[in-house]
Amino acid sequence: MTNKYMYFIANWKMFGNLRTLKSLDKVVSFVKKFKKSKIKLIYCPPATLICPMVKKLKLTSINVGGQNCHESYNYGAYTGQINSKMLKDMGAKYVILGHSENRKLGENDYLINTKIKSSIKSGLKIIFCIGETLKQKRKKMTKKILVNQINKGLNKINNKKNILIAYEPIWAIGSGLIPKESDLHETIGFIKNKIRGAKVLYGGSVSPKNINQLKKIDNLDGFLIGGASQVSNNFIDIIKKTFN
Ligand code: PEP
Repeated sequence: MTNKYMYFIANWKMFGNLRTLKSLDKVVSFVKKFKKSKIKLIYCPPATLICPMVKKLKLTSINVGGQNCHESYNYGAYTGQINSKMLKDMGAKYVILGHSENRKLGENDYLINTKIKSSIKSGLKIIFCIGETLKQKRKKMTKKILVNQINKGLNKINNKKNILIAYEPIWAIGSGLIPKESDLHETIGFIKNKIRGAKVLYGGSVSPKNINQLKKIDNLDGFLIGGASQVSNNFIDIIKKTFN
């Protein structure tokens, strides 16, 4: 894996404020010393921090993304919502869509598909999250669930070149658990087979403690990192260990 170009995407979820941005200084100076051709770093902070973060990271190779957006490409009377054009206008280059924490709040595959289409139209790159529950895993339904999420989420999207897939088993998110090496290798291969040419990332409890295990999975193209990305030292540690 060590010679591969890898994505490291930080999902800050509903954490962080203007003072937290200071913690990026460490990451910025780390990245400056790192071989640029090896990593692609993307921060997805809460919407309130997109503008200041874009400003702060302007002269660096680090990109910023949103964590979600409204499905409507057009502006409209949707109180409290932000659409993909607005994210793009703020300087975001990516958007996370289909995250299980939003699926849990009621987002279905059809809605996610509409969001993906409108975000592509706005010129954003998509981090499309898919994954099974523990119950589904135990019933050996993982592949069936993933195929369904992929078919419906990417329905009628022919050009998938700006879509990254983040395989995030729901039972692994925030739990400290990660899939078995052989299972994860097989699932990533399965997704890649289904979406030819796609970059596939893994997300779910990635940390400095388990990255040595995860980096052995040679068909992975990177990681989507929640909790551990909020502490710069941990985030840097994950990146360093991936290439050691
Ligand atoms: C996530 O929510 O996308 C995620 C990967 O979270 P964590 O790393 O905290 O499990």
